[in-house]
Amino acid sequence: MTYHKQITVCPFCDASVQASVFYARGSFMAIYNIAPVLPGHSLVIPKKHVTSITDLTDNELSEFFITARTVLRILMNAFHTDSYDWSIQEKPEAGQTIDHLHLHIVPRLKGDLKHPGAWYPLLQRNDREIIDSLDRPRLNSESMSLIINELKQIAATIE
Ligand SMILES: [Zn+2]
Repeated sequence: MTYHKQITVCPFCDASVQASVFYARGSFMAIYNIAPVLPGHSLVIPKKHVTSITDLTDNELSEFFITARTVLRILMNAFHTDSYDWSIQEKPEAGQTIDHLHLHIVPRLKGDLKHPGAWYPLLQRNDREIIDSLDRPRLNSESMSLIINELKQIAATIE
């Protein structure tokens, strides 16, 4: 029998998320997805619990995208590519499963999937079954530490 523990606390507000942070700027931070759909799959999130991009002030919106741009530079450097997908889902009708605003960034490599659009079904499955489920397959803590440290080192050279 599969046991699904109900999540009652926002996983992005939980203190444990700090171990996944590789970059932070102002009110935003970038975390490495502990269960990436492809290598490099990261999320840019506000530090405080915000559900919608429409809840951000002009300054916060600017900061959000400046943070995302820096995160792109870090990931493009780390994963040796200039190709990426990014995505925001808002509200359950659009596929949002965690009501804390999060921008997915997924570096892409030639031939990494059968066709370029195949990442989105993976992401949807990831959101529903991987991020929200506590019994999902995850990177172990050693692998996470290695990638977080590498991304932090690159981040220090980017800004
Ligand atoms: Zn939250």
